[in-house]
Amino acid sequence: MDFKRHVVSRRVMHDLRKRSSIGILFYVLILLVILGNDGYFLRHPDFSLYFVLANTGICLFRTLHLLVSDKIIQINRTLDISIFMGSVIITALIWGIGFALLMMQSDENEARILMSICAAGLCAGGVSAFMPERHLALAFNVCMLFPTFAILQFTGKNPSMAAVILMYSLYLALMTMKGNNEYWDALENEYMLKRKSEELEKMSNTDVLTNLYNRRYFNEIFETEWKRASRNRQYLTIIICDIDYFKQINDTFGHLAGDEYLKKIAGVLKKVFKRKSDIVARYGGEEFVALLPDADAETACELAETLRLAAEASRIQYKDEIIAATLSIGVMSCIPDYNENDDKDAIIAKADNALYQAKKKGRNRVCHHFSE
Ligand code: GH3
Ligand code: MG
Ligand code: MG
Repeated sequence: MDFKRHVVSRRVMHDLRKRSSIGILFYVLILLVILGNDGYFLRHPDFSLYFVLANTGICLFRTLHLLVSDKIIQINRTLDISIFMGSVIITALIWGIGFALLMMQSDENEARILMSICAAGLCAGGVSAFMPERHLALAFNVCMLFPTFAILQFTGKNPSMAAVILMYSLYLALMTMKGNNEYWDALENEYMLKRKSEELEKMSNTDVLTNLYNRRYFNEIFETEWKRASRNRQYLTIIICDIDYFKQINDTFGHLAGDEYLKKIAGVLKKVFKRKSDIVARYGGEEFVALLPDADAETACELAETLRLAAEASRIQYKDEIIAATLSIGVMSCIPDYNENDDKDAIIAKADNALYQAKKKGRNRVCHHFSE
């Protein structure tokens, strides 16, 4: 049920529109054939004219609605759904009443047969077109068939045909329910598969421990961003950081405590690099990398310093112990040049080299690629 509510308006309305648009032209053509056959139109000019005008009018309205429906949806989705449903019901009512009135004309046998066949066909088409929304499909067929059934049954004109219409309506209702269930099952399966494949994709991009992106995803996105930055002549920044003396944390407090600390630092990184375009990934055991599109050297160093201070200030409590550590950070900013075959791995190597400098200079510091 939750699933139904979640997807009903968008996908189902889209399907309903697509399915029902095929029939609109046929409503117009079929009626012209029935009323034009064997001079019927000349014998019943008023009835034919009103029937054709009403039918053509609603079909034109529905076509117009199909054309502007995207714009109405943007303003008011409920209004769009109401217009769609309402116009379908009006179409069925026009046909239903026309069908009933024509069946009253006992001297027009041929037109009555044609009309019965076509009405039955349109009802079956209605089941198929409106089956995603079973109430609409059922209402469509009730409006199409009930007026004729009522007239034939209650005036005593043709109770056996009324019984046939009743049986046929029952058959259509059962087909609607069956088709509706199958439609929703298929839709549910489709969405479940989509969700699963999104989950799988996310899993294959995510580091299980820290929930950050993993190195595989980083490499993938880095290539894209590197090309984009070179195309747009924009800065690209890589910040690599490594937890200082992390082995000691593991050795002193245990591996699980180390894991908790890694999660804590991942959270700190996410807080510092919070732009939508920033990519933060776990690069190795206790190494992390941030990819900042369009951040120049100055901004990058400021952010790296913010990160260093935040990491220095952060601590976790593991059992009765308070654990704290620091980060050494290497920063590399440049405007890559794809055309001159600039080596993208060299950018990482330079950031790595800056990190090495930070370690060499005593840790808990930021080194830029240019600062030696
Ligand atoms: P430095 O300041 O030079 O970086 O020293 P360090 O101790 O941080 O560096 P070293 O490379 O000697 O040790 C890194 C440690 O990180 C060793 C490894 O066991 C630990 N490590 C790597 N991955 C994980 C992990 O997923 N969980 C835990 N708890 N430890 C990890
Ligand atoms: Mg380390
Ligand atoms: Mg390391």
